[in-house]
Amino acid sequence: MTLYVVATPIGNLGDMSPRARMTMAAADCVVCEDRRISAKLLGKPSGERRLLLCRDDNEKQIAGEILELLHSGKNVCLVSDAGTPCISDPGFRLVRACRKEGLPVEVVPGPCAAIAALSISGLPTDGFLFAGFLPSKRSARINFFQKYGEFEYTIVFYESCHRIGKFLNDALEIFGSERIICVAKELTKVHETFLIGKLAAVCEKMATIAAKGEFVTIVAPARFTL
Ligand code: SAM
Repeated sequence: MTLYVVATPIGNLGDMSPRARMTMAAADCVVCEDRRISAKLLGKPSGERRLLLCRDDNEKQIAGEILELLHSGKNVCLVSDAGTPCISDPGFRLVRACRKEGLPVEVVPGPCAAIAALSISGLPTDGFLFAGFLPSKRSARINFFQKYGEFEYTIVFYESCHRIGKFLNDALEIFGSERIICVAKELTKVHETFLIGKLAAVCEKMATIAAKGEFVTIVAPARFTL
């Protein structure tokens, strides 16, 4: 019947909304990335039969199965490991297929790392580009930075702990030492850290903190000052 796209916590389990919990519990099937993580949110064992795996590599194939369930009158809930499904996470193809077939889609909004970081960065929020993860190839990253060097709005990126160092070095090279940047680490978790300031200074500070965990990086428009 309806596909519910449900946001889940990005670190602090207290951010699971009552409506998200209720929707997951009431669904005939919960489409997730990792059974253990979603079972924990449901308060059920990971063998819970309603949990159906959907990842980037099988999304296309599983979408057909989920569409059949929806057409047969079942309610399906889509969650990711953390945050909002479809935002640098699986789900886009499934939602698109539902829209194409006229099946109802409802959102249960909640945590999203990009919005959480941007909202308290102190960098301009009136307009922004969400760039997600840049390609891993250095040349592609450099191309992107060059293309958007004079972009008039704030740019929000996701980055893994393995590549944050390279990302910042390349950003420094292309955007220059004066560009204002925010690095948000481990949002809503015990070791939440925000580094905000000129790129050169933030790169220096980064060298003093552990490059472990999850990162959102936000680049202010050229000539923005704090
Ligand atoms: N769909 C998720 C959302 O709505 O935020 C994003 C999923 S994406 C696979 C994971 C990336 O999101 C991480 O590599 C990191 O860049 C960012 N992220 C997720 N949780 C985070 C957190 N607690 N603190 C900082 N960044 C986080």
